[in-house]
Formats: sequence, structure tokens, C-alpha cells
Amino acid sequence: MAARVDLDGKPIKPLTICMIGAGGFIGSHLCEKLMAETPHKVLALDVYSDKIKHLLEPAGAHPWSDRIQFHRLNIKNDSRLEGLIKMSDLTINLAAICTPADYNTRPLDTIYSNFIDALPVVKYCSENNKRLIHFSTCEVYGKTIGSFLPKDSPLRKEPEYFVLKEDESPCIFGPIEKQRWSYACAKQLIERLIYAEGAENGLEFTIVRPFNWIGPRMDFIPGIDGPSEGVPRVLACFSNNLLRHEPLKLVDGGVSQRTFVYIKDAIEAVMLMIENPARANGHIFNVGNPNNEVTVRQLAEMMTDVYSKVSGEPSLEEPTVDVSSQEFYGAGYDDSDKRIPDMTIINKQLGWDPKTSLWDLLESTLTYQHRTYAEAMKQAIAKPAAN
Ligand code: NAD
Ligand code: UDP
Repeated sequence: MAARVDLDGKPIKPLTICMIGAGGFIGSHLCEKLMAETPHKVLALDVYSDKIKHLLEPAGAHPWSDRIQFHRLNIKNDSRLEGLIKMSDLTINLAAICTPADYNTRPLDTIYSNFIDALPVVKYCSENNKRLIHFSTCEVYGKTIGSFLPKDSPLRKEPEYFVLKEDESPCIFGPIEKQRWSYACAKQLIERLIYAEGAENGLEFTIVRPFNWIGPRMDFIPGIDGPSEGVPRVLACFSNNLLRHEPLKLVDGGVSQRTFVYIKDAIEAVMLMIENPARANGHIFNVGNPNNEVTVRQLAEMMTDVYSKVSGEPSLEEPTVDVSSQEFYGAGYDDSDKRIPDMTIINKQLGWDPKTSLWDLLESTLTYQHRTYAEAMKQAIAKPAAN
């Protein structure tokens, strides 16, 4: 493997990385990249390992086998955590409950997972002078300023009323009874705590705010590799509908807007943070693709077209159906109206820009979904009839 250099041309020393939540969607892609392209070691911590099984098994069979070690543990109650952080140069914390269906229905678990459970990680990093990359969320911005203007106000079109900037935009959440915001609020408080550890105790930290990263292995398909009644994030919800040949459900009209970024583009940004501490420390980074904005309705239409292309199956005559948020998520749901990341800081510090268009990232992701799930879905659908 050629010697790696950082953005300033200096050689990069091999690192030991303690990755918490390594068995999740983002963790699995980050582990893959670190194993295939770098000499770094990963101590992979999670309660699940299914999504990184291909990197771990068969034991000893891969060129990277001696550089990845899986530790099955729950950070809520495991005394091994501090030792593993101490053994590492860098800790990356991805562990969280981060599916909106949980925020209003399991607000206590959501707050504990995103704030309380992250506290020891921050403390051990600070006390042992270890660098921390912590995963927060774009949801800490909450609603845009523009969403409070009258519907017909021309100011709604002015970027200063909706573009989200790390060092300028306020965090605007709904009332407490809208428990949707339990997640954003817990993430905001852990960000403030990490920032304060940096300011008062010199913790070296980087905070990542992902803006709807999507791609293969995200969440689960209900009834196939996850609970039948489970509600994953929108990519997996719509994939599930497409695989089942049922209409895609648009919550409250599908008018909310999102920008989606391809997981592989986003992982490049994280790699730059890992390998350029001098440029990344002390910063909060938006990581998203401002060019890939759609309403949820447009996303549904595009996914329907792309899925028809990659599966060769015709789309439904009525590809979408409207549902209320009350019916879909239950009481206490609320929504972010629009999420456009400002890219100035990540561009200046790390020279990173996303590359993949929404159509292209959906094409590769839905090809994966079709290949991985279509057959299992056929069998699952056939089963009840056979019984
Ligand atoms: P994910 O649910 O796929 O991964 C999280 C992983 O953490 C899971 O494998 C889970 O088992 C593990 N975990 C949770 N609690 C744990 C505990 N107590 N002990 C050990 N392991 C635990 O989610 P993801 O999409 O990979 O997200 C990773 C991080 O990025 C989260 O902090 C999330 O809030 C943040 N984020 C992601 C997105 C996105 O677009 N994917 C958007 C905003 C924020
Ligand atoms: N959504 C939808 N239908 C679904 C799942 C989600 O209309 O089957 C909407 C949801 O209300 C939100 C958007 O899609 O407006 C994105 O939801 P996701 O769960 O991916 O997370 P978020 O971006 O809100 O954090």
C-alpha cells in the first residue's frame, strides 16, 4: 500500500480507531473504506455485527483481518469501554437511536441514547487526551427561519432564511409536547458539552452533522431483516413499498424538502477528518449535498422510476398514497421543513465536495436493494397464501 499523505503533504501514521456503532449503516461503510484503502486499525464496538460480517468472516481470511477486531458490547453498561478508548488514538462515536419513528414513541430511550450514553465516551476521551469525532445530526438546526414567514413572503426564497450554517444558524425546535424534537435536543446538548470540553479542558474534537446520507445497508426492510411493524427512515420505507409493489406513503402530503448525499461521497469527508486532525479539530462540519434537493413527493416519484428501470418491473398506476403523520408516526410527530447545508466550512478546511447526483445514487442503491431483497420478499409474500 502506498504511503498516505495528508492534505498538507505530511505522511499519515497508522492509527488505532475505536469506532462505537461500527455495526450500523455509516459504520459499516467507514470500516469497509478503512480496511480496503488504509493501514489503520479498527476496534469495532457494537451490539450487532451483521452489516460488517463480510469484513470479519471468515476469520483470518482477508488481507485486513489483523486490523479489525469486533467487540460486542453495549456502551450503556460495559466496563471495557474506557480501556478500548485508551488503547486507541481516535474515537469515533456513531452509536445512537436515530430513526424518527422512535423520537416521539420512545423519547426516553432516544434522549438516553443520544445524550446520557454518549457522556462517558466524551469523558473518557477528555480525561485520557484522546481525539473524538462525534456524530451529531443536521436535525440540530430544526426548522428554518423561513418556515415562520407568511406562506407568500418573497423572503422565503432568500438563502439567508433557509441555508443552514454551522457557525450562524440558530437551532429551532417545536414545543415539548412535539416529542419529535427529543432527538435534536439531546444531540444539541451533547454537541454543547463536547464544545465546552474543548474550550475548558482542551478536548480535541470534531462534530459531524450528516444531512440525509443514504445508500446500501441503510436500516432494514420490515418483515425481511427487521421487525414487520418497524418504521425505518424514508429510503428503507420507500424501498419496502417498491419491493412489495405497494404505493409509497407520503406523510402529510410529502411537502417537506431534503437534500440526500450518497454514503460513499460522505465517507470521503469522514476520511479527510480522520487523516487531517489539524484541519478538522475544533470544527463542526455539515456533510451533505446541497445540489440534491427534492420534496419527499419528488423523491417518491424518482425512486419509483429508478426502481422500475433497475427491476424491469412496471410501476403502479397510483405510485403514492397520502397518510397523516398522526396515522404514520403517532402523536408528537413534527417535521423539519427544509435542509440545505452550507458547505463553506468543510470546503475551506478539507476541500471536500459531494459528487453523486440523486438519480445516480438512487440507481446504485436500488440496484442493491433489488438484488438483496427481491427474492426474499417474493417468498415472504407467497408464504401466508401457502399456509
Ligand atoms: P445506525 O442505526 O445504522 O447505526 C448506529 C449503530 O449504533 C447501530 O449499529 C447500533 O446497534 C449501535 N448502537 C446504538 N446504541 C448502542 C449502544 N448503546 N452500544 C453499542 N452500540 C450501539 O445509524 P447510522 O445511520 O449509521 O447513524 C450513525 C450516526 O450518525 C448516529 O449518531 C446518527 O444520529 C448520525 N446521523 C446519521 C444520519 C444519516 O443520514 N444516516 C443523519 C443524521 C445523523
Ligand atoms: N417520510 C414519508 N414516508 C415514509 C417515511 C418518511 O413521507 O414512508 C417522510 C418523513 O415524514 C420526512 C422525510 O420523509 O418528512 C424524511 O424522513 P426520514 O425518516 O428519512 O428522516 P428525517 O430526514 O426526517 O430525519
